[in-house]
Amino acid sequence: MKQKILIKVGTHVLGRENGRLNYNRISDLVDQIMTLRETYQVVLVSSGATAAGREFCQFENEKDPLIKRQMLASIGQGRLFQVYSDFFREHSVITAQALLTSGNFRWKNSFENMKSSLEGLLDNGIIPIINENDVTSHRESSFGDNDQLAALTAAMLNVDLLVLVSDIVGFYTADPKRNPKAELIRKVERITPELLTLCENSLSEGGTGGMLSKLKAAELATQHGIPTIVCSGKEQDCLLKAGRFETSGTYFIPVNTKKKLSLRASWMTTGANVKGVITIDSGAEQALKNDKSLLAVGVTGVDGKFSDKDVVLIQNSEGIRIGTGLVNHTNNEIKKLIKAKHKPKGVVVIHKNHLYTL
Ligand code: GLU
Repeated sequence: MKQKILIKVGTHVLGRENGRLNYNRISDLVDQIMTLRETYQVVLVSSGATAAGREFCQFENEKDPLIKRQMLASIGQGRLFQVYSDFFREHSVITAQALLTSGNFRWKNSFENMKSSLEGLLDNGIIPIINENDVTSHRESSFGDNDQLAALTAAMLNVDLLVLVSDIVGFYTADPKRNPKAELIRKVERITPELLTLCENSLSEGGTGGMLSKLKAAELATQHGIPTIVCSGKEQDCLLKAGRFETSGTYFIPVNTKKKLSLRASWMTTGANVKGVITIDSGAEQALKNDKSLLAVGVTGVDGKFSDKDVVLIQNSEGIRIGTGLVNHTNNEIKKLIKAKHKPKGVVVIHKNHLYTL
């Protein structure tokens, strides 16, 4: 059985300065993917629909940037897919289009259908080419630049490697376009809250937003045991190198050795509609690692508004996410349990059967 690789290609890699598609670049990426297919089943997440749409019209009078993007994407998506399909057809490879939204990851049935159909395509040697369904995406829940979509899909399909291809060389200590002292970080062992803050600070210096979204995507993927590479699509043979785990960009080491998640677990730890966050102490963290239930005595904090049977995230005292579960109590009940003078013994906040650690 071949390993799986998910490659996400950003708009800036596929677009020219004039905002339209760069056909030479797409052809080169397709050639590299063909070589990768000797070792991997390949899933492609590609932006570029809006860039392709600009080849047809501009909508210069449209004031709302979201509506403009949606209109351009709806015009360009067909063209983008056609360009990929034509290049792949030269190699006798069939492609399939999947347009997804964050809602598809939230609902279990939809998640299940997505996972089975994408796996079915891969098993039949077909390359799924995924993009956000920009036309139906809500303003608040849009993926924007597809990094999160790529990470969610990577976790859903349990891929062996995630490659985020963009126009930046890798992950820097600051925004390299503005700060000459910015240094490239070649290897990230663990994405800590400090690293996220560093990235947020570099954004407030006027960065692009791209690094933060890549860092968050890498965080989700590495928590699911998936090694992640951020590299530049302008670098020669970037995909071939990434496929060999060699990169001039940044390599994010997976947090856990990969464990095969059940469908329900992978839904709960990726897309499920999360209503709150529960913070736990080190004793509870250890108990969870030993597959025990989460007891009220180990809970130190609670955020969000939720009812019993809602999905919540579980984080440790350093703010690192360690799992997800279905709660037995509302947020107010848990608050009361935390404040209680005599900590109640044996009260289960999340039962081990409804709890998934990363
Ligand atoms: N789904 C958008 C597109 O295909 C993504 C735009 C972006 O990468 O910022 O154009």
